Amino acid sequence: MSVSETVVLLSRKREEEIRAWRRAIHRRPGLGMNVEETASLVAAALESMGLDVRTGIGGTGVVALLGSSGPTVALRADMDALSMREETGLPFASEIEGRMHACGHDAHTAMLLGAAAVLSEGWEGRGRIKFVFQPAEECAPTGGAPAMIADGVLEDPDVGAMAALHVWPGLETGRVGVREGAIMAASDRLDLVVRGRSAHGSMPEEGVDAIVIAAQVVSALQSVVSRSVSASDAAVFSLGTVRGGCRYNVIADEVRLEGTLRSLDARVRAFLPEKIGAVARGVATAMGGDCEVLYERGYPPTVNDGAVVALFRRVAADLLGPAALEEIARPTLGGEDFSFFAEKVPSVFFWLGCRPASADGATFPPLHNARFAPDEAAFPLGTALLAGTALKLLDRLNEEGSL
Ligand SMILES: [Zn+2]
Ligand SMILES: [Zn+2]
Repeated sequence: MSVSETVVLLSRKREEEIRAWRRAIHRRPGLGMNVEETASLVAAALESMGLDVRTGIGGTGVVALLGSSGPTVALRADMDALSMREETGLPFASEIEGRMHACGHDAHTAMLLGAAAVLSEGWEGRGRIKFVFQPAEECAPTGGAPAMIADGVLEDPDVGAMAALHVWPGLETGRVGVREGAIMAASDRLDLVVRGRSAHGSMPEEGVDAIVIAAQVVSALQSVVSRSVSASDAAVFSLGTVRGGCRYNVIADEVRLEGTLRSLDARVRAFLPEKIGAVARGVATAMGGDCEVLYERGYPPTVNDGAVVALFRRVAADLLGPAALEEIARPTLGGEDFSFFAEKVPSVFFWLGCRPASADGATFPPLHNARFAPDEAAFPLGTALLAGTALKLLDRLNEEGSL
């Protein structure tokens, strides 16, 4: 039996277990760094596989190591959920009000546990595999990966290549998407405070209306990307919150705006904050107020390594058939903090189809939706792809010493 047949078979054998892990994690979602419950489930499962497990890495991260010598590759999953109310109606829906695994990180964690189970069964390995479970992926601009890197997750032994996946409702179950180069965007954050001066609502001439200024700032900022970024460069700027005012008949003295800035190109990423600041301040000043602009650099773009992607494609074609592989033409402008790992180590980040063939692509709930429910049939495929990719990367490192 070939390696790929073994991996597929073993992953199928673990299907029930993967589903059970996923459902248990789904019921008890943790937010940001506070994923203790999930982390202890993960650590217990890894220990039961006989792996060398370390907890509390970069806060609440968990790392396990398989194998004792040779080159090392790493597989990573994220463990955190979102602060939103679940509306899936699933029997294993979130038991914690206002928290939900709406980005599929419960599935990522379960699939990686599956890969650890598959690979550790009878491992006679030529090399080592690190299983990295990280908190706080959803916590832009900081994220959870940098703290784990700072805690040495990529060292001792040094990691030569890395892989991770994201469930992708835009793709049918059984399909997998990848691209060389950037697959996800840089994700930065912008906070604006518009300041005016309060007065009685009947006498606006005695104050400076921060709400009217903010309205102009919001409109003006919408032209920055469309007029300053070349049509061939991708970038998007969206404001997510506007907060201001205290009473119906008081001229507001302050309005706070929060937004996100996505880009793929380093040059665009560098000039946009300055441009946005200049426009916001200019408009506010012209109207007699002012505007404070705080720009926080968040996740860098997630950039896939060419050699690792080429190997991954062979694995995916082998495991799922060549037709399953979808070449992603354009990156998405979503952010992903796996990018911090991919900056340090040649990596592949791929999308795992999780929309049942019977579902309507136009109405299937997307990521971050209160009804998001990935197809569980995709999970053994994700496990097989992670395990198969790790083995392929180790083969290459063993044969050639590098990718
Ligand atoms: Zn997310
Ligand atoms: Zn996610």
